[in-house]
Amino acid sequence: MRSESDYKLREKCAVFGVYCPGSEAARVTFYGLWALQHRGQEGSGIVTSDGHSMYRHAGAGLASSVYHDEDMQRLRGHIAAGHNRYSTSGGSGDFYNQPFLHDRGQFALAHNGNLPDCSMLEDFLASHDIPTETHNDTRLMEAAIALYISRGHELESAIIKAYPLFTGAFSAVSMDSRRLIAFRDQCGIRPLSIGTLDDGYVVASETCAFDTIGATFLRDVRPGELVRVDEDGITSHQVVEGNQKIDVFEFVYFARPDSIIMGQRVNNVRQNFGLEMAKEFCVEADVVIPVPDSSIPAALGYSRASGLPFDVGIIKNRYIHRTFIQPTAGLRRRDIKMKLNPILESVAGKRVVLVDDSVVRGTTMRQVVQIVRDAGARQVHLMISSPPVRYPDFYGIDTPNQRDLIAAHMSLEEMRAYLRADTLNFLSIDGMVRATGLSRSQLSMSCFDGVYPIGIGRREEAVVGSGSPVMGRVDGSTAEIGQVETHPSGLRV
Ligand code: 5GP
Ligand code: MG
Repeated sequence: MRSESDYKLREKCAVFGVYCPGSEAARVTFYGLWALQHRGQEGSGIVTSDGHSMYRHAGAGLASSVYHDEDMQRLRGHIAAGHNRYSTSGGSGDFYNQPFLHDRGQFALAHNGNLPDCSMLEDFLASHDIPTETHNDTRLMEAAIALYISRGHELESAIIKAYPLFTGAFSAVSMDSRRLIAFRDQCGIRPLSIGTLDDGYVVASETCAFDTIGATFLRDVRPGELVRVDEDGITSHQVVEGNQKIDVFEFVYFARPDSIIMGQRVNNVRQNFGLEMAKEFCVEADVVIPVPDSSIPAALGYSRASGLPFDVGIIKNRYIHRTFIQPTAGLRRRDIKMKLNPILESVAGKRVVLVDDSVVRGTTMRQVVQIVRDAGARQVHLMISSPPVRYPDFYGIDTPNQRDLIAAHMSLEEMRAYLRADTLNFLSIDGMVRATGLSRSQLSMSCFDGVYPIGIGRREEAVVGSGSPVMGRVDGSTAEIGQVETHPSGLRV
């Protein structure tokens, strides 16, 4: 059995695929991955096929630095699968760079999501004497598919055979030399959409990639569905019955505002978050300032609905990404200052409503509040356009261990004091749901309500106060967060 640290590769990523006769699929994929860069900045990879042979190129860093023209020339063919990788720690080296191209070159696999408990896959592979010690969840999926292929199955039927072993969230793209396949878990936790391009098809984690490459949105891959594209066109196979539960965090923070998820423009949903905030909380203030970039739509929505003027008060350096150059201790303290710089005239002497999309650990937020105070703000009223994150995520968004989540162990008042804000308000779960325009049953809100729609297996032990019937459900509303109880573990729930 694996220890907690074996699961350190928790990835939230982008996947992309093309089947387009006559195209240079690698170039199309490069532009698609570039548009999806926000979903992962640690590494990028492309696998292609010209109908006979398969080619692969992958490396660490941003898409724009991983690929050069020579690579594009080598990545021949009209079929491609691509991946941008996000991971928080460990796993350096090409072994974890996706898409994987299986040893004997028969197929490639790229995965967005996470399988919280891989015991079923591990047991299955162990029973067939396949070693798995160094495998992360995606490597285990690849090994199971490969096993079925080695027994004579075609890629599509191998994936269908292995599918029941994939216990978790996956929006995945796979291919062999002749076909492209996209498939999604039964809840469709992570997004995955299909577009048309000339005489072919593309699939992407988000629709913003279609706009970039001139493709036309067709539809989402349905939860539990597998889609195949080959010389016969597009074919759908419903592997298991779907029960749509998109991760609401895609709307809160993760997706690009110009993407459309389940028919809803993300920008519009985020503005609605602000509008709902204004209905729930009004404060006396002079100006509404977003923490860039992710909370700009919510701040606009709050400003419009409250009547308080919107202003740009903090500028983000867009060129700061993870760097392999370690700053000295003195520079590290300036980390946040390198990223965010206040505009003094916008905040000095003012009562500021500071809007941010989420509070996870609280460490960034605390520094942002300080920046605004140092710039001369008279008051700082924090408006968070999502509910408190009290539960860890297991489906592919990197929210840390529950002990690192500030809202899991502090009351609202304790958080306000820690963040040094004059007031602190979080959008309610009901307000968040209303803002999406979707029904509650279509959403996974596990990091807010502790209800995990796809079983998390043994990892349930690590969650305190989860929404499972045994532990009782917490609704995460702001009203409740003030009532703090101490759980036997010491975590306050
Ligand atoms: P905290 O104050 O909790 O340390 O950080 C909150 C900030 O992190 C918010 O501004 C939010 O936009 C951002 N954030 C939320 N989720 C993620 C994530 O998964 N990755 C990164 N890099 N930032 C996130
Ligand atoms: Mg932010």
